[in-house]
Amino acid sequence: MTDHCVARRLKVNGIVQGVGFRPFVFQLAEKFNLKGEVANTSSGVAIHIEGSPEKVAAFEKELSEKSPPLAYIIEISSQTEAVKNHTEFAIVKSKGQAKRSTLISPDVSVCDDCRGEMLAPDDRRYHYPFINCTNCGPRYTIIDDIPYDRPKTSMRHFKMCPPCQAEYDDPTNRRFHAQPNACADCGPHVGLYDNQRNEIIPHPQAVKKAADLLKAGHILAIKGLGGYHLAADAANTDAVKQLRRRKLREEKPFAIMSYDLGAIERYARVGPEEEKLLTSIQRPIVLLEKKKSSALSEEVAPGNNYFGVMLPYTPLHYLLLEQGFDALVMTSGNLSEEPIAIDNDDAFNRLSDIADYFLIHNRDIYLRSDDSILRYVAGARRFLRRSRGYVPIPVFLKNEVAPILACGAELKNTICVTRQDKAFLSQHIGDLENLATYEFFKLTIAHLNRILDIEPEIIACDMHPDYLSTQYALELEVDHKIQVQHHHAHVVSCMAEHKLEGAVIGLSFDGTGYGTDGAIWGGEILVAREHDFERAGHLAYVPMPGSAAAIKEPWRMAVSYLQDAYGSDFRNLDLPALNEIDTQKLTVIGEMISKGINSPLTSSLGRLFDGVAAICGIRDRVNFEGQAAMELEMAAREDSDGVYEYGWGTEEAYKIFTAPIIQGVVDDVANAKPIGEISSRFHRTLICLFTDLCVLIGKEREMNRVVLSGGVFQNSILLTGLTGALEEKNFKVFSHQQVPTNDGGISLGQAVVAAAKAKR
Ligand SMILES: [Zn+2]
Ligand SMILES: [Zn+2]
Repeated sequence: MTDHCVARRLKVNGIVQGVGFRPFVFQLAEKFNLKGEVANTSSGVAIHIEGSPEKVAAFEKELSEKSPPLAYIIEISSQTEAVKNHTEFAIVKSKGQAKRSTLISPDVSVCDDCRGEMLAPDDRRYHYPFINCTNCGPRYTIIDDIPYDRPKTSMRHFKMCPPCQAEYDDPTNRRFHAQPNACADCGPHVGLYDNQRNEIIPHPQAVKKAADLLKAGHILAIKGLGGYHLAADAANTDAVKQLRRRKLREEKPFAIMSYDLGAIERYARVGPEEEKLLTSIQRPIVLLEKKKSSALSEEVAPGNNYFGVMLPYTPLHYLLLEQGFDALVMTSGNLSEEPIAIDNDDAFNRLSDIADYFLIHNRDIYLRSDDSILRYVAGARRFLRRSRGYVPIPVFLKNEVAPILACGAELKNTICVTRQDKAFLSQHIGDLENLATYEFFKLTIAHLNRILDIEPEIIACDMHPDYLSTQYALELEVDHKIQVQHHHAHVVSCMAEHKLEGAVIGLSFDGTGYGTDGAIWGGEILVAREHDFERAGHLAYVPMPGSAAAIKEPWRMAVSYLQDAYGSDFRNLDLPALNEIDTQKLTVIGEMISKGINSPLTSSLGRLFDGVAAICGIRDRVNFEGQAAMELEMAAREDSDGVYEYGWGTEEAYKIFTAPIIQGVVDDVANAKPIGEISSRFHRTLICLFTDLCVLIGKEREMNRVVLSGGVFQNSILLTGLTGALEEKNFKVFSHQQVPTNDGGISLGQAVVAAAKAKR
């Protein structure tokens, strides 16, 4: 080396293995004519670089500013080192056994380079549906164990052909060490089958034929990245109806997929933020406002103002959508609420009564991962479901914690494991109400612990004794177990996202959560810290006649709120919704309420939404959780004013009376006010009421931070309105952006509460 030669040692921490990071470093070194070496280490990538000071500085600058699309850099450390007079720059083998503290990339969409090759007739991978490179393709879902090398993935069954191997070995190639690298000669293939598993047509005509069958109105099961989809032509009402019937899914919206933004804009509004989400490499389902009229069937999302839309993310999706559809329904390949099918045998077993044909392939999916669902509300992206594309990227905590397993809640379950200052939330597991989902829950815990090399020392779970996740946790042979109150976990999950310390006012609003007094909470104002909380206010208790039945049948809650507001006189009210209820049923429910038979007490705000929706005549029973509340929200009109009367009592906590609100709603209904007006007034009432209480509590306790969490905050009027109203009163307001506000994010809170309690 010449004079003025310096050397530096750089350590890069984050998701930097299996994402083309070393070739990127190699090419960067070549660009600046620098010598040295790069290697994977236990915690990331280590670089020794030497050359002129200016060029080394330029190298460092570009290293931190540019990186491969899948890399996720947490930090780069840099220190001076002795010059070793390297004669070249080399990618060297990892020294020693790579320890399991590296991070694994999520599965992401096919990149533009690969897509370009796939569409080029002279490319050797022309129309090959499994084209990928270090910048794109499957990761998390094909990994069985770590380190992330081909023999530890479902690509182990495919031996690379000489041209693929040459790419894999060449540091200057985009496919250098791309573990799923393959081509039509050596890699996985698709095939088209009927539902009796007879092959109709093999590759390469299978995709074209599949598209023809979809156009003819058939339902197809299509194997994707994280599991099977059930597909139908979204413009064909008969096909979509048929799919609803066979899948036992009456009204819940179906997700759809379109070829490009142009196609989407024909039926939905795409704002700049939505466009960013849609086109991101994670390719989530994004909620988009429907346009007034479109070619799509009303059956796709009946009674809903939104479509859940995604762009294609696998090469196979592109090849299929290229055949000319406005949109395809692409809903999870499962029956009702079971886990999504991933295995071919399992898919034929479970889906052959739903799908007419199967477009399958022979690359195994080791771990299912449903599509993620996002929307853009109140200035930020909001997760409704965090799964494919985002898992297993951790949430970074403000400090290191012990290894913890948090088992989550019952509905929309996810689990969370912690390692140092990182909390890893699992993909969406689902509602732990059937054996299949419970098996998936256990499998996911084992898998995450294995690939992250975590042996939990503390187990966190909900306080609800009947949750399967609680029972699982309590049976584990780990000494240290901590049961966390549901709404406390909600608040702390949001605190963890924003790295908050000390006490906050937490508005924790959802449908159901087990309270410390055994009642069902859900309209809670907590003064919360990580390790404990105080219940500063809550909705006054009302009975839930029939317990779980009251969730499925909001008219029962309507009766309960009416009886609370008017006593037994409520039966004389002139309410259309009341007149529709069988008088004998009404008597029975009235008795149940007054005698407390099978009528647990609840302070749930979710139930209040249900009750108001039922009193307005929106619906008396629901097909999925939160349906009535959602429809009440969607009915709201901006061009109305007024607030219902509200008030609270002061016992040891502020007890919010629902009776004046219910009476206001009833008066408006009796005066034939439009539902849109009532809905807006109801929302506005809640915003004023909770803002007033926050001001009161904030003054009493000298607090100025409010955290919003819980499934009710999926309501965008409430989230936007409360955020604005509280900020006007000079509160700092925090809501979820990294994990779902619903129970899908609660395992994060459980883990952090357990860590804080264990420390004390
Ligand atoms: Zn690629
Ligand atoms: Zn090949």
